[in-house]
Amino acid sequence: MSMPRKVPVLLHVKENVQYARDCQNRQECLKAIRLILDGEATSEQLHYFHDHLDYCMPCIENYNLEVTIRQLLCDRLERKAVSADVINSIRSKITEIA
Ligand SMILES: [Zn+2]
Repeated sequence: MSMPRKVPVLLHVKENVQYARDCQNRQECLKAIRLILDGEATSEQLHYFHDHLDYCMPCIENYNLEVTIRQLLCDRLERKAVSADVINSIRSKITEIA
């Protein structure tokens, strides 16, 4: 039951907010962040993180890092798809000529 993947967006760090510098649960949080980004988090996890990512700086940074990695991967896949199209259109042009 996987949902269609959307490219996630970076969280904005607001200037007038006091963020927590330490996370009590960094490793667990990171696991949950990955589940969220993979669309596999439970609604409890989503609910907890919705609040948590409002103030926990280490987790915001981890989240944004994970988002950046996924954006880069998506970018690569798209570019691959484009180049496959280009190759196909060149190939069909060659067949037309031949
Ligand atoms: Zn945290």
